[in-house]
Amino acid sequence: METTLAALIERNARLHGGRLAVVSNGRRYTHLEHARRIWKLARVLGALGLARGDRVAILSQNRSEILEAFGAAECAGMISTPFNWRLSVQELVRVALDCRPSVLFFDGGNAETARELAAVLPGLALVTFDAAVNGAVEYEALLAGAESDAPPVAPPGPDDIANIIYTSGTTGVPKGVQWSHGALMHAAGTIACQAGERPTDRLAVVMPLFHIGARIEWLALQAMGGSVIVLPSFTPESFFETVASERVTMAHLAPVMVNMLVDHPARERHDLSSMRDIHYGSAPVPEANLRRAVAAFGPIFTQLYGMTEHIISSMLLPYQQELEGDEVARRRLRSAGQPYPGVGIRILDDRGEDAAPGAIGEVAVRSASMMSGYFGNPQATADAIRGGWLLTGDLGSVDEDGFLYIVDRKKDMVISGGENIYCREVEETLLLHPAIHDAAVIGVPDAKWGEAVKAFVILQDGAQLSQSEVIAHCRLHMASYKRPQSVDFVAQLPRLPHGKVDKKALRAPYWSGAG
Ligand code: ATP
Ligand code: MG
Repeated sequence: METTLAALIERNARLHGGRLAVVSNGRRYTHLEHARRIWKLARVLGALGLARGDRVAILSQNRSEILEAFGAAECAGMISTPFNWRLSVQELVRVALDCRPSVLFFDGGNAETARELAAVLPGLALVTFDAAVNGAVEYEALLAGAESDAPPVAPPGPDDIANIIYTSGTTGVPKGVQWSHGALMHAAGTIACQAGERPTDRLAVVMPLFHIGARIEWLALQAMGGSVIVLPSFTPESFFETVASERVTMAHLAPVMVNMLVDHPARERHDLSSMRDIHYGSAPVPEANLRRAVAAFGPIFTQLYGMTEHIISSMLLPYQQELEGDEVARRRLRSAGQPYPGVGIRILDDRGEDAAPGAIGEVAVRSASMMSGYFGNPQATADAIRGGWLLTGDLGSVDEDGFLYIVDRKKDMVISGGENIYCREVEETLLLHPAIHDAAVIGVPDAKWGEAVKAFVILQDGAQLSQSEVIAHCRLHMASYKRPQSVDFVAQLPRLPHGKVDKKALRAPYWSGAG
């Protein structure tokens, strides 16, 4: 396996040159065409005055030019840095001041924000993917001006930093996570091998490319010489249409997207028989939802558990998601699977020592697919990596067969009357009720108990349920102290781009300051 993207692009151009590499916005590029566009852009970046290690920022909805910008920056020894375009301008300014890019690629929808970022970063070169914008160079014109489409002469090595990806910001301000070429390629190769990926696979890239999940799935398929179909955004209809027309074999989706596909009437109208593997993860997957998905689409789901700092931690494979198994098989439907080969997982107690077998504690992970640290923040890096182990901030346990169960984030756990209550357990219980479509649970201040459990519930269309009926349902299925004290019926839940429930936003009205 190649250890840098530069080497991988060259290999694909040689081995798979005539085969399809990328489909996006009606355009189709072979591996050779894709490589040549990347190499041209790599030359141009040098001509723009960028040096090795400079950041190349991208602010755009999914499209093939993002893959080219990743490729060019990383082939030329610069650092690609995709920005989450769904952040507010103020949040993006903070991110931009954190990593201080030299150039910013942007699409038409982000032109205004790009100008605002240029105002705080004097000297920032702007490149527009779409129509001409004052002060910005046009992308295709830039490529056309490249003096050559040959590969860069001095590509980076495996220990050089390739990429800075920001965390989702679920628990605080997004953190810039640095990935070396070697670690990225190791993660990609591991995913590709575990998923049995082949050059004939066609991956739908639907999740935003500013998160590591989409980035690494693209890289995994690149490692195998396969084809990616880039979708600008997700709707069930466009997803079904793309799967049918492009004979898509693989996709990587957020759990909330999987739910939307299961519920959608258009499912029956499309030929989805090419789809062999849907990866899902980035947030807990309630057992009730997983059952519905497998019942609807068959055993084609692979759950991934990981994080921006350590993308491949564990996975639950399709054959481990049997709906009609014995008690052990049923329990595993709630697990995040077993560690990937070469990944170590420990469960630590409050003192940072190994917890008793089966006990809940903080999940720590270690492998060659680990971040190189947070950008410009050695203190945060030292807090996160202890003795080579990354502290995930997630609480979980491991069963006797090595299956990992994520029960909550440390910061989300509710402590009520001295008892630990895991929001996920309450959410799973709520979803057992046939009238409940979706649910999220948080802790709110309580004068008597310290914290009390509060549930936000979305009912199924046309269903009726009272607060006391919801609480009675919970009392039936779990210890009484874990039941919600209050229930709000809502039409939707606030979500982050990855589809995770934005618990910071849910908690904010109840906790003064950051919650
Ligand atoms: P921040 O670190 O900025 O607060 P974040 O942790 O949400 O945000 P990411 O790195 O995108 O940022 O997400 C990783 C987290 O997502 C994990 O730590 C875990 O809490 C959650 N997660 C990922 N996959 C799964 C899964 N399969 N099951 C349960 N939780 C998951
Ligand atoms: Mg995190």
